[in-house]
Amino acid sequence: MSLSDHTIPGVLFRASPKTAEVPLVFDSPHSGTDYPEDFDHVCPRRVLRTAEDTFVDELYAAAPAQGATLIGALFPRSYIDANRHLTDIDQALLAEPWPGPLDPGAKTRLGMGLIRRLAVPELPVYARKLGVAEVQARIDRYYHAYHDELAGAADRLHARFGGLWHIDCHSMKSVSNGMASEGAGVARADFVLGDRDGTTCAPELTKFVKAFLSRRGYDVRVNDPYKGVELVRRHGRPRENRHSLQIEVNRKLYMDEESFERNANFRKLKSDLDALVAALAEFARERVGAG
Ligand SMILES: [Zn+2]
Repeated sequence: MSLSDHTIPGVLFRASPKTAEVPLVFDSPHSGTDYPEDFDHVCPRRVLRTAEDTFVDELYAAAPAQGATLIGALFPRSYIDANRHLTDIDQALLAEPWPGPLDPGAKTRLGMGLIRRLAVPELPVYARKLGVAEVQARIDRYYHAYHDELAGAADRLHARFGGLWHIDCHSMKSVSNGMASEGAGVARADFVLGDRDGTTCAPELTKFVKAFLSRRGYDVRVNDPYKGVELVRRHGRPRENRHSLQIEVNRKLYMDEESFERNANFRKLKSDLDALVAALAEFARERVGAG
C-alpha cells in the first residue's frame, strides 16, 4: 500500500500518522494477498482467496491523515492466522507431535485455527501433513512479526497518551457457509461489532461506533455472531484504558465476492469509513485531552 512508511516485504506494512498523532490504531490482519512460495496448498487459489478480507486495509486507509496508525498483514490469513491464539492448532494437520501446549478451540474445530485445515467446507487446504519446523517458521516470521508491530505501536501510544483505542478490522462473506459459527446459509448484517461481550473496551466505544454506522443507514449488530477473537482479546484491557473493538463489514458492500473486484458501492462505503475514522480520531483525542 502506497501510504505505508514501514514494510517488511511479504509480512506487514505500517502507515504512520501524517498529522498530529492520536492514540488510535487500526489493524487489518486478514487483507494480505502475498501468497508465500512455500505455502504448498492444493486447493484452488481462487477458493482459498475467499478466506481473505480483501481490500479491508484500503477501506481504512484514511487513518494516517487523521493522525492514526494503520497496520496490515501482507501474508494471507490462510497461511497463518494472526487472529488466533498460538495454541489453537489442530494436531491432525501435523506430521509430528507439536512440542508446545495445544488448546484447539471452536475455530480449529471449524477448520480455521492458527493453521487453516479447510478452504471451504469439505475442501482441505493441504494434501499432506505439515512439519513442526515449517509451522514454527510461519509463527516466527509472520505471526510474531505482526503481533510485535501492533504491540509496539499500541504500547508506545499508550505510554505517550495514557490511553489507547484499537480497531481490529475485518470483513465477512455476505452469506455464511458451513464453516461459520452460525451455520450455513445465513445472510449477514452490514456490520458486526465485537467486544467479547463487553470485556475488551469501555461500552462507550462500541456504542459510539454502532450509533455512527446506524445513523448512516447500516444494519449493525453487536457480538452476534462475531464477538472478536485473539487481537481484541490481547489488546483490549479497559481497566488500563486500552480499548479494542473488532469491526466486521459485509463484503457485499464493497466487492464482488466471485471476481474479487471492488464493486460500484466501494467508494460510498469508503467515504462512510473515512468519516468513521475521522470521528474515532476525535473520540480518542477528546479522551486524552490531546490537541
Ligand atoms: Zn478477518
